Amino acid sequence: MTRRRWIADTWNEERTTAALLGDQARHLARVLRAERGQTFDMVAGGFLHRAEVDSVREDEVTFVLHEEQKADTALPVHLLLAVYKFDHLEWGIEKATELGVAEISPVLARRTDKHLALAAAKRVERWRRIAHESAQQSRRTDVPLIHEPAKLPAALASAQAGTRLLLAETEQENTLAAALKSHAAGSNLALAIGPEGGWAPDEMNQFRDAGWAQVTLGPRILRAETAAIAALAIASALLF
Ligand code: SAH
Repeated sequence: MTRRRWIADTWNEERTTAALLGDQARHLARVLRAERGQTFDMVAGGFLHRAEVDSVREDEVTFVLHEEQKADTALPVHLLLAVYKFDHLEWGIEKATELGVAEISPVLARRTDKHLALAAAKRVERWRRIAHESAQQSRRTDVPLIHEPAKLPAALASAQAGTRLLLAETEQENTLAAALKSHAAGSNLALAIGPEGGWAPDEMNQFRDAGWAQVTLGPRILRAETAAIAALAIASALLF
């Protein structure tokens, strides 16, 4: 049986003890009625361990960590995701996490609605929570890094992957699958998805100047979150 997997809130340097705090502790104590001696799988600092409950309080459940388990790794993919309607964006963050994305940079694009751009900085903690829950639910051993929302020049500077691909509905020929054929094994991949209105022309130029190639997912216009999911699925099938 697959044990339920938890991501520790705190752990000691030797990874012999760990704890769950706050909502996670409450859930374990009240809903699951955890008891001393029960075992779970627990991720601490990116390492997966067998963990035994040591003490249970509603605000803190402590564990003794036993042997390390073999763990899966994230896809070495950095997603630049333009900020747009929060409910759709958040769904995209959840699904990208399930698919294994390593890093997400929310981008304040030219066509990001002004109100959303202003609200994004306060929203990032919620996005990190969504990624944390999704990582846990999909039994990942790590939580994707969700960067602070930033304008495109800063996001481009942070994306130093070996292959950088801009998903563009205006591209007619170069497909994502074809572009991935020249991706060097072992190097990182960055993918950029635009907002509802698409990338503005000057943003397309910035991508080009930073060495990004444009790729298409086919002749249909996809919603941004669909494009993100499709691109990650294709990349993971072909590369990892
Ligand atoms: N403004 C466009 C739609 C943008 S869709 C229009 O209505 O015509 C939002 C984002 O999803 C785009 O910026 C692009 O990154 C991605 N996308 C959507 N369909 C795509 C496709 N067929 N190929 C590649 N990327 C696509």
